Amino acid sequence: MHKILNFMATKRLQAYQDVLNRTPKHIEYDGKVSDLFGKNVFHTEIMREYLPSDAYKSMIESIQNGTRLDRKMADQVASAMKDWALTKGATHYTHWFQPLTGTTAEKHDAFFKPVGPGRAIERFDGDLLVQQEPDASSFPNGGIRNTFEARGYTAWDPSSPAFVIGKTLCIPTIFISYTGESLDYKMPLLKALHAVDQAAVEVCQYFDKNVDKVNATLGWEQEYFLVDQSLFNCRPDLMMTGRALFGHAPAKGQQLDDHYFGSIPERVTAFMREFETEAILLGIPVTTRHNEVAPNQFECAPIFEECNLANDHNLLLMDILEKVARKHDFRVLLHEKPFAGVNGSGKHNNWSLSTNTGVNLLAPGKNPKTNLQFLTFFVNTIKAIHDNADLLRACIASAGNDHRLGANEAPPAIISTFIGTQLSSALDELEKSVKAGKMTPEDKTELKLNIGKIPQIMLDNTDRNRTSPFAFTGNKFEFRAVGSSANCAHAMIVLNTIMAKQLKDFKKSVDARIDKDEAKDEAILKELQQLIKDSKKIRFEGNGYGDEWVKEAAKRGLSNLKDTPRALKIWSDKKVAKLFNDMNVLTPRELEARQEIEFESYILKMQIEARLMGDLVQTHIIPAVVEYQNRLVQNIQGIIAIMGDKAGRTAAQSQLQLVEKISMHLNKMKSTCDTMLQARKEANKIEHAEEKALAYCDKVKVYFDEIRYNADKLELLVDDELWPLPKFREMLFTR
Ligand code: ADP
Ligand code: MG
Repeated sequence: MHKILNFMATKRLQAYQDVLNRTPKHIEYDGKVSDLFGKNVFHTEIMREYLPSDAYKSMIESIQNGTRLDRKMADQVASAMKDWALTKGATHYTHWFQPLTGTTAEKHDAFFKPVGPGRAIERFDGDLLVQQEPDASSFPNGGIRNTFEARGYTAWDPSSPAFVIGKTLCIPTIFISYTGESLDYKMPLLKALHAVDQAAVEVCQYFDKNVDKVNATLGWEQEYFLVDQSLFNCRPDLMMTGRALFGHAPAKGQQLDDHYFGSIPERVTAFMREFETEAILLGIPVTTRHNEVAPNQFECAPIFEECNLANDHNLLLMDILEKVARKHDFRVLLHEKPFAGVNGSGKHNNWSLSTNTGVNLLAPGKNPKTNLQFLTFFVNTIKAIHDNADLLRACIASAGNDHRLGANEAPPAIISTFIGTQLSSALDELEKSVKAGKMTPEDKTELKLNIGKIPQIMLDNTDRNRTSPFAFTGNKFEFRAVGSSANCAHAMIVLNTIMAKQLKDFKKSVDARIDKDEAKDEAILKELQQLIKDSKKIRFEGNGYGDEWVKEAAKRGLSNLKDTPRALKIWSDKKVAKLFNDMNVLTPRELEARQEIEFESYILKMQIEARLMGDLVQTHIIPAVVEYQNRLVQNIQGIIAIMGDKAGRTAAQSQLQLVEKISMHLNKMKSTCDTMLQARKEANKIEHAEEKALAYCDKVKVYFDEIRYNADKLELLVDDELWPLPKFREMLFTR
């Protein structure tokens, strides 16, 4: 009898045994890493080799300026791509795209084509390269594409190079509906990048006429957890939701700070080396790896790249991580908060703007002129953040990130920006010293002198505030509130769009001043002064994790949107629709569809978590608890049988207390779970997406903590041998 009841617990113990028996799986590659870089990418050097010169030129034109390739050129590029891919052993090709599920999607087709009895060729032409119609009717579309139309097209994005993974040629594409509306993250990202390019070039023209292209740059830092595969397989919650819905914090967590930057365990190093090599082959310049704060938490970061490419690379890396992890008997967790009680995972987005002339517009310059250019972009960024704080909050909102933001390990849900004491005083100075009315030559000289001092100041500006969601870090801003599982495009669409809008407004105001006969420099300075004044409340240099800041932020009138449904509301604001429409990034209909999809995604995630909680309570936790309680009861009965009722009860008082304590937690857990399941049924009746999301947040999710609290108490009371779910200490401390 016991054997059957203990089946699950036995599985856990077997899994633990698996872990103890594991050895590192080192993979050896021939040659230096530098020789492998980009080997599986159809990059411009390969194009030069494989393409006739006119096709090569059109391709470069297309990469740099987004011009369309004509049919003949597309055929030549397709054929060259295929020939190259065949040398890499590819048999299939796929349009690789980014539907609004947040991950990537692919549908493979063979190059192989029968052409007669027993005869076949490898074929790939321009039509197949440029456009495809995957049968993709089940991707979320927020009502844009009726399923009966079932038409979604993928269209080639030449600005991101094709690559070979395994035996498949992957072609980065956008995903659009029959009517041309975007159903993905890539298309609006490309549009936002175009908008910020145009707006920034116009502003750069005040300083340097040679600037004709501005690229947004993105350097992401990916955090993740590793869990042994066998343990993972005994945790239905990790398998289905990516996070542990139950589990008591281990006696030792991260309090000793001994994991952060500690030596990396050998089994993990073997895994890292393999995925890094895979990344290098795909041209992803990964350079940094280290242990993170929580046990079994790690980080990987590449050198920054142009934003669209960097984003494709992040998505690819997330995919590679998962695939390679399995080979090493690990599972990678990209969820923002897999384990309560230790830190969660984020994905810092380092962002800047850089010109075709090689200038980083957010790096202080060497003279007053370049510094004025720096200040212009710097102050405009702050103003954009100030005006659109709620949008920035919304673009990082997800069910997973709700566990992390403001939980004393990540920036709060309040958006603010940190710029360091020196730049703060430089801005304060500028605000004070630009005089009203016409400026005298002396005024200007003094101002320029002050502006010229900035690079020296910056050198010793080493204080970096890790608690700010949006921090200036010397030559870039770092958006730290992005979730680890997110597609960075979401944040990058918003950031680049609001920056484009801000720069356009700035240009308009400066031009208006110049039209009124103000000198250019004076017009810029006066406008900057105004922006500094108007955006002051978004600047915060203190501790973003403290309660004081929550109060202070409320006083300043900054929003603190604590959960996803509330943050997502902003997408239906008329001003937001106008902004995205004016910048030609998303139409009101596309925006509405996206909001709907995000509400849906939140609801689905909550639904799955709620169901799984119910399942685990019923099928894993209660059986183990009852089994243990039976043993206690038998023991008590035995003692009473020998010693008589009174003396027996005294002798068995510890066991009796334990039985009572277990019953108390068991009943609380079960009754709260029943209440939660009832609330879930009620929420499911709601049709309207926003109301339903709010109901899940306020009326269903609210019970999760109470259920878990009691379950976790039971974990500490029940015999370890009977407990079916691998414990945190096993998942976090064994490698
Ligand atoms: P950390 O935040 O861990 O202290 P760093 O500040 O050294 O690390 O750098 C973080 C990331 O910033 C790196 O991935 C780097 O490539 C990126 N980065 C550096 N310069 C830029 C830039 N101009 N634009 C975008 N990202 C950048
Ligand atoms: Mg960082």
